[in-house]
Amino acid sequence: TAKESGRGKFCIFSAEMNQRVFEYLWLDTNLRKALDQNQLIIHYQPKIDAGGVVNSVEALVRWLSPERGLVPPGDFISYAEESGLIVPLGRWVMLTALAQIIRWREKGINLRVAVNVSPRQLIDQSIYGDLKLALAQAGLDRCPIDIELTESCLIENEEKALALMEQFQQLGAEVHLDDFGTGYSSLSQLARVPINAIKLDQSFVRGVNDRPVSQSLVRAIVAVANALELQVIAEGIETEEEEAFVLASGVTSRQGFLYARPMPAGDIEHWLADRSRS
Ligand code: C2E
Ligand code: MG
Ligand code: MG
Ligand code: MG
Repeated sequence: TAKESGRGKFCIFSAEMNQRVFEYLWLDTNLRKALDQNQLIIHYQPKIDAGGVVNSVEALVRWLSPERGLVPPGDFISYAEESGLIVPLGRWVMLTALAQIIRWREKGINLRVAVNVSPRQLIDQSIYGDLKLALAQAGLDRCPIDIELTESCLIENEEKALALMEQFQQLGAEVHLDDFGTGYSSLSQLARVPINAIKLDQSFVRGVNDRPVSQSLVRAIVAVANALELQVIAEGIETEEEEAFVLASGVTSRQGFLYARPMPAGDIEHWLADRSRS
């Protein structure tokens, strides 16, 4: 099929390809508009640390489309990456998250926010200057935002990426390697990249009790991370069994539908208040 023949190859238009071209064109018009017309929103998902405390949330973008309703990032982030729109979109997410942190502080809520950053944004590099400027304007000398990068960021432009990661750390941001274990990076690579944490991909914890191999893998990864003084964040925890397993494996913090779904900032405030009461 057209899909299998790969990028940049000329081929006969299939119905499936027609569909993809149509989708691309639809996004091309509408996602740009979405950014200009404030149709993007951020949901925040709490992370629970080893002591049961919530110090940090992850920012996950959504699109409230007048035509399609609430569109998940999986439906538009890869288009935004390809088109370059991820640069202004990612800037909006970062600045909106920072503004939210400041509003929360005014209400006595102290949270860090982890923001997902795409390879294209690292290559472009403007995200760093934008963040630095926004911190200065807000009068903050330590950055309360952490950066989540996937392994593909390292592959695409390694030297630039590594330098930028160190610069983020100098601002006070932590750098977290997202979806760890799904890409190409090896355990040995962890020793030479400037990161503070790895986020174990959901596939490691999913149904882990039926899969002894995952268990051994997670234990090995945690052991290496411990030796390198990296935190390990387990994502996608949905069941008590999965929670018991990650707790026994020594992960530093955890995140998943078992605790909370990603939700608007106001709901986070209520969720935190409920949690501190119980
Ligand atoms: P991610 O960074 O790995 O985020 C985790 C995804 O898993 C989120 O999906 C979250 O809603 C979902 N999730 C959390 N807990 C559970 C659980 O217990 N079970 C299951 N099944 N899923 C869970 P979401 O929000 O649809 O985001 C998907 C991906 O889109 C993110 O994966 C991230 O790669 C990307 N993304 C989201 N927001 C941004 C953004 O602002 N910028 C960029 N560049 N990428 C973003
Ligand atoms: Mg993430
Ligand atoms: Mg992830
Ligand atoms: Mg992911």
